[in-house]
Amino acid sequence: MPRQKTVDHTQPLWVEAGDPSEAVLVSVAPIAPIDKLYTYTIDDASAHLVLPGRRVIVPFGRKGRLAPAIVVSVTRGPWNSTLKPIAEVLEEAGSLSDHLIELGQWISDYYYCPLGRTLAAMVPEAVRKKRGFQTVRHVRLLADAETIEAARLGAKQKQLIDVLQGSDASFEVGALLEESGASRSTLRGLITKGWVEETQTKVPVTYEPVQAERITPDYAINDAQQAALTRIEEGIDAQAFKAFLLYGVSGSGKTEVYIRAMQRVVDAGRQAIMLVPEIALTAQLMKRVAQRFDRVAVIHSGLSGVQRSLAWEDIRNGKTPVVVGTRSAIFAPCPNVGLIVVDEEQEPSYKNLQSPRFHVRDVAIMRAQKLGVPIVLGSATPSLETWNNCLHRKSYERLNLPNRVMERSMPPVKLVDMTHRSAPDKTVTISEPLRSALTETFERKQQSVVLINRRGFASWLFCPSCKTRIECRRCNAGMILHRSRGIVLCHHCHEQAPIPHRCPQMSCGGKLLTGGGGAERVEDELKQMFPAARIMRADSDTMTHATKYTELVKKMECGEVDILLGTQMIAKGLDFPSVALVGVIGADLTGAAGDFRASERLFQLVTQVAGRAGRAEIEGRVLVQTLTPSLPALRCSLTHDYCSFVESELAFRKEQYLPPFTRMARIVISGKRESELVADGTAIANRVRSISEELEAGASVVRVLGPHPCVLERLRGSYRFELLLVARSASELSNVLAAVRASGGFKSTSRTLMIDVDPVSLS
Ligand code: ADP
Ligand code: ZN
Repeated sequence: MPRQKTVDHTQPLWVEAGDPSEAVLVSVAPIAPIDKLYTYTIDDASAHLVLPGRRVIVPFGRKGRLAPAIVVSVTRGPWNSTLKPIAEVLEEAGSLSDHLIELGQWISDYYYCPLGRTLAAMVPEAVRKKRGFQTVRHVRLLADAETIEAARLGAKQKQLIDVLQGSDASFEVGALLEESGASRSTLRGLITKGWVEETQTKVPVTYEPVQAERITPDYAINDAQQAALTRIEEGIDAQAFKAFLLYGVSGSGKTEVYIRAMQRVVDAGRQAIMLVPEIALTAQLMKRVAQRFDRVAVIHSGLSGVQRSLAWEDIRNGKTPVVVGTRSAIFAPCPNVGLIVVDEEQEPSYKNLQSPRFHVRDVAIMRAQKLGVPIVLGSATPSLETWNNCLHRKSYERLNLPNRVMERSMPPVKLVDMTHRSAPDKTVTISEPLRSALTETFERKQQSVVLINRRGFASWLFCPSCKTRIECRRCNAGMILHRSRGIVLCHHCHEQAPIPHRCPQMSCGGKLLTGGGGAERVEDELKQMFPAARIMRADSDTMTHATKYTELVKKMECGEVDILLGTQMIAKGLDFPSVALVGVIGADLTGAAGDFRASERLFQLVTQVAGRAGRAEIEGRVLVQTLTPSLPALRCSLTHDYCSFVESELAFRKEQYLPPFTRMARIVISGKRESELVADGTAIANRVRSISEELEAGASVVRVLGPHPCVLERLRGSYRFELLLVARSASELSNVLAAVRASGGFKSTSRTLMIDVDPVSLS
């Protein structure tokens, strides 16, 4: 073993190997699904490279197989020779602060994701790879004049050294070679000799942060806004955790309150993070926020690697005091966060759909709690979880903005009952009342928004002669017809095929029928109804890049669009003053079958989309087409009556032992053999029951539902079964899950198992 040098000068400088001595101890979490930490060491010279959050390669097991891992902590401490050294440090960027490591630890525990994987997910790939930075090489002369004099140098070497000797500063390699006329190999020769030293630094390529012309609003905020702002400011000044629910209909001035609260934080020299659920929302909001602060970092999925990496660097250095972004912005490495804002806190898209399956709002709350700073959760239709927390938890406070600003009213909402429509009419998705409202609006040169919750042209293709539906060959789901792309597409696994015109059954070959309109079909109908109107469709087929949203927003703002048609993505947040009419097609519970949050979602959708109408001087109105007009969620949304809705829905949830009164975890097992899955699921269910009973001395506190087939029973060729675990509290749930895992209850080689804590969707 080599001798180990210590830096502590009270200790002997050299210690015999094997003696306990001081060394760099690096605790790492493997990126593989292993939930354990391992300790390695590294020589002092490279120690500065290993920072928490960075990737390293370490030898694993007895055979020393090399595998990637993430650094969790670095300390100095007693060391002995059994400690293996780190094989390689992979990165020089993307470290995580102690605070973020701690947050990662919580995410890993709470959402059942191995720590290494969780930490890996917290640093964007582009940041780790230091995209957007160029390596600049500098050289300087080490050899002294005497040595040089004494040596016999080649002509090129001489020229190179002459140039270096002529200056005391170091030289950029390119410039040196040019000036001296020497080649790279000449330089390399001198470096190898130890006469010249080369250093490398990374400097950012040019990067422009979002900057907009500064605009200060010409209005004073109203009393309700001021009252809410005062409470939040008190929270900011107190520098303690507190969760505020800012509850106000769309157009009540919530964003203005966020901006002013963030201003308070920035003035105090700290940073604010504002989270928005979808990229579509960042376009307009970003502009609004950028107008009010000197430097704003915008983080969303449309950024290039370079932009993301450079934005991250600026945030880390505290150069951008305000960060606005979607999901990944919650891990923004701000050095001194003073406030976190979560806009539209009820949005299901805040839930990460891959492991770690965290909920951004809940991670944000945890981050605020760990930092001891306030968090503002804003919504017109709060999640039942947050509403309930405000009723029962001391650290939560509800702030109300009861009215729209400037005494604007909420638009009237009317239901169009689609149940009585005659057969031939059924192929048309736009009802007569909606059609005439669209006509009126168009004639008045005002804008309309039409919302449909489905993509594509037709949601089913059916052969009437042999009675079969065209399905994905790997999922038990129908193929969706996308006419403009000339394909049928599975919305679950993205399998696609050319559009079939005849039944694919060899013996049949019948002519296919299509039905069930999606956004594409509605676009078709609208174009036929209003040949003179400028119609724009916004769904994930057309909004393929961030720039498309910016374009959409611009066109809407300039009045270049008469009818904006789109899926959910246009329902929220967008603020177009001249939208006078909103139409909703297919406001039903279909498609959300089996999900206990279906009515909550429906209420939210109608309320949100209604909020798009009449945001400025124009009076708005809303028409909602439905096959289920008597649903309470729809009835309440007619009068924008969130309170009545939430009261009845909470009562229902309580009675049914459902969240927010309980905590849920969903376990999905999938594999090739159905019978094995059933047996396996049953074994897990039994194990959960018995462990839960043991923990609670006989009385089972965790209810287990299933195993039963998932709503989407077959996906990508695998069968899927689910178990739902319902417990009174998060800690009870997590204790039971931990105990089941510790007992090996989740282990199996023949299938995959997914644990989703606090699921937002049960498909
Ligand atoms: P929300 O976020 O609740 O939907 P916004 O903050 O976007 O509401 O406000 C809606 C519109 O009203 C915005 O255009 C905003 O500039 C404007 N606004 C906000 N507060 C006031 C106010 N006190 N007086 C007049 N206009 C306001
Ligand atoms: Zn499929």
